[in-house]
Amino acid sequence: MIKMILRYFVKKKYRLVIRRILNNFRGFYYLGSKFYCICCNRSFREFLPFGNIKRANAKCPKCESLERTRLLQFYLKNETDIYFEDRAILHFAPEYMLSRRLKESSKKYISVDIEKDLADRVEDIQNLSFKDMTFDYVICSCVLGHVSDETKAIDEIYRVLKIGGKAFILTVIDLNRLDTYEDKNIITDSNRLKFYGEKDLLRLHGRDFINRLKRTNGIVREIDYAQSFSDDDKKRYSLGNKERELIFEIERIG
Ligand SMILES: [Zn+2]
Repeated sequence: MIKMILRYFVKKKYRLVIRRILNNFRGFYYLGSKFYCICCNRSFREFLPFGNIKRANAKCPKCESLERTRLLQFYLKNETDIYFEDRAILHFAPEYMLSRRLKESSKKYISVDIEKDLADRVEDIQNLSFKDMTFDYVICSCVLGHVSDETKAIDEIYRVLKIGGKAFILTVIDLNRLDTYEDKNIITDSNRLKFYGEKDLLRLHGRDFINRLKRTNGIVREIDYAQSFSDDDKKRYSLGNKERELIFEIERIG
């Protein structure tokens, strides 16, 4: 009921501010030592369940990071220079704490979203306003399953990368499928949930996802970074759901 009232009377950007404040109290309530969130650098007794089909210990109670965001933060911090140089960074559908950290580290960081108030500016990933070869890094996590023209979006990501620049892309993948499943007749939330596993997905990627990215002519790598963690650490950071945590890297070479 409170959520419905807020949604009706309070603008989205103010609702987000209220949510962050409430999350701070919630984070305090869940403080503990069993789980650790690298995004907000706090330890908790548990993470929260999350998803249309609930996953246990998925969401940080304070910063709302999910498994894939925590893994990406580890990867960016440990395996790239993104936090050590003033890199030009484009971040789609920005995850709150990851966005804050990147913005603190680079004056050339910009976040974008199709929806107003969720990022620095509104952009359509299928038709970006940025010039060719603008960015050193592009971060695009759980977006490509939601856009109507995926090939346009992939081409746009590559177009705005500098030569030598890298894009990090994550999506939900059904590892039992060779080919991506997409049926234009699936249009209701309930059917998307039934066939794709989430009610706002437009397709369910299969193992061919890497080939879809290869249309760019860049060097494409599939990185199972969670495998570099011990079993104890995977539990502590709540990582290891491969279908949501593969990192696909595209490096622009020409
Ligand atoms: Zn957190």
